[in-house]
Amino acid sequence: RLALRGVTKSFGEVSVLHGIDLAVQPGEMVCLIGASGSGKSTLLRCMNGLEPVDDGEVLLDGVDIAEPGFDLAPIRQQIGIVFQSFNLFPHMTAYDNVALAPRRVLGEDARDRIEALFARFGLAQHMRKYPDQLSGGQQQRVAVIRALAMRPHTMLFDEITSALDPELVGEVLDVLRSLRDDGMTMVLATHEMGFARELADRICFMDQGVIAEEGTPDVIFSNPQKERTKQFLASIL
Ligand code: ATP
Ligand code: MG
Repeated sequence: RLALRGVTKSFGEVSVLHGIDLAVQPGEMVCLIGASGSGKSTLLRCMNGLEPVDDGEVLLDGVDIAEPGFDLAPIRQQIGIVFQSFNLFPHMTAYDNVALAPRRVLGEDARDRIEALFARFGLAQHMRKYPDQLSGGQQQRVAVIRALAMRPHTMLFDEITSALDPELVGEVLDVLRSLRDDGMTMVLATHEMGFARELADRICFMDQGVIAEEGTPDVIFSNPQKERTKQFLASIL
């Protein structure tokens, strides 16, 4: 169970997160929406220790992983993250990209588990291909499989469809749908408002480093309470 309390983050003079409180329930899908620069990516990166916080707590089952010196390697397996750019190693096959970390970190080959993941996401016939032989949507699915191979209990997704051609977005969103049906705990930063509305349990609207408003998709999209939420939605819809 993941919870942020009073998380504050600056880059030099630029203050990016101002006292973020956010508790994610097991099996919940939370979508972060908000203008460019509002702090969505930074917040995701703070949630698994990729970005150190200046102040506040990042609690995993009540333990503050933001404490200096905390061993974050196991945390990054438990809380997987996938980015807009797939970051696959170009000189390795899709399978080897996925198998690398389980081999190195878990000390296991995990072949059956990895093959099952490729099959589940419709990539069984592509396991031995190199990234440049795969479409963007296929590469992004491999990147998701790579994170799942570490058996995370929580997944963070940062605009994972933004770099894709429109016709490839659907196949990646289907992966998220499937994970949701499985009960995976997920936090997504997304510009896919239709998807967020359809599947999120909760929408957090971020504005200038705070969660300005949060609620169910119905409330946020149909009946937002705050003026700045209304303005943001009017600007994008
Ligand atoms: P987008 O929708 O464009 O992805 P975002 O909501 O994800 O935006 P962030 O990437 O979290 O926003 O950035 C929030 C602010 O922090 C921006 O002003 C950005 O310039 C700044 N920022 C982010 N990362 C760094 C960094 N490593 N060094 C300096 N400033 C940074
Ligand atoms: Mg971002």
